[in-house]
Amino acid sequence: MEQLMRFKATNYRIEDIHLFRDITEENRKLIADIVKDCLVVKACAGQVVLDANSAGAKLFIVLRGALGVTRLTEQSNQLENTITQFLPGECVGEISVLDEEIHSATISAISDSELLLIEAETLWRLIDESNGVARNLLQLLSFRIRAANAQIRSRQKVGEFYRQLSMVDGLTGLHNRAWLNAQLPGMVQHAHATAAALSIIMVDLDHFKRFNDEHGHLLGDDALQTAAKVLNAGLRPSDFAARYGGEEMMVILPGANHKSALGVAQRLCNRLGKTKVFIDRHKPLPHITGSFGVATLSDEQDSNALISCADAALYRAKANGRNQVAS
Ligand code: GH3
Ligand code: MG
Ligand code: MG
Repeated sequence: MEQLMRFKATNYRIEDIHLFRDITEENRKLIADIVKDCLVVKACAGQVVLDANSAGAKLFIVLRGALGVTRLTEQSNQLENTITQFLPGECVGEISVLDEEIHSATISAISDSELLLIEAETLWRLIDESNGVARNLLQLLSFRIRAANAQIRSRQKVGEFYRQLSMVDGLTGLHNRAWLNAQLPGMVQHAHATAAALSIIMVDLDHFKRFNDEHGHLLGDDALQTAAKVLNAGLRPSDFAARYGGEEMMVILPGANHKSALGVAQRLCNRLGKTKVFIDRHKPLPHITGSFGVATLSDEQDSNALISCADAALYRAKANGRNQVAS
């Protein structure tokens, strides 16, 4: 860190400093006496005042100019934009003085600044001698805690948003494979534990390679989106549809026995076969169809075994001529 220029304090008013406000006249004199020998340092715009991870507890009070907390971006190792500003009257560095830990953030001058430097020993003396300073410091700490909590909450929200996003398939809007891998084992476990039924349907679009070859991949994407909408629209709120991969999708039916799962699969198969994928209003494309393999959880079966059963049923639906349901 570049050396800060130090010189003896000149003119500033004790009452303009937040840490010393709402203090009795008598106390103010006492404070003035304690801080009279403190140095004022000058920091040029951009100059680092407190280095993150450095030790050496001291408090800076901004007399003129402004300080800001900055942090390093992970990608570029560059100093990022300012997050929090400290204006005249405000102080920085108090937490490191109180807990004697290293500084958690880098603080630099946003503009040319003059700072009153209060060494740890002096701050402790101020706390010991003046209830007002101790009270102001407590208020400041409460403010810092609330601000930190608000920041944590907003980061948690952003984290949750991206977590949800990472569980959604970008093309179809269905749950994706990562979601399925995370959720299905738990659903299977829950079904075993509660002796509830659980069925799944593996869906694979028929001759989809041919569809792509004839109409192009963009319309192939449209067809996939259409198929996903048909599946989603045909389910109850307690059911789930996920894109398993490529043109394969899976429907999960918690609570459904084999008979009702076959009924759902047949209904979806019929609807899909009737749904048109349009190039435009005048030129409808051929209908897309799908093959449906149904499997119902049996005793001691895990999620992988259940998927294998649905896969085998799907294979039979394909072998029997496609556009149909098998189990
Ligand atoms: P089958 O009836 O036996 O399932 O025949 P198929 O042609 O559907 O099966 P195959 O596995 O040979 O081909 C699957 C095709 O699905 C090939 C691939 O290009 C297409 N496909 C997979 N994912 C996507 C996608 O996201 N968009 C588009 N447009 N096509 C996709
Ligand atoms: Mg396939
Ligand atoms: Mg296919």
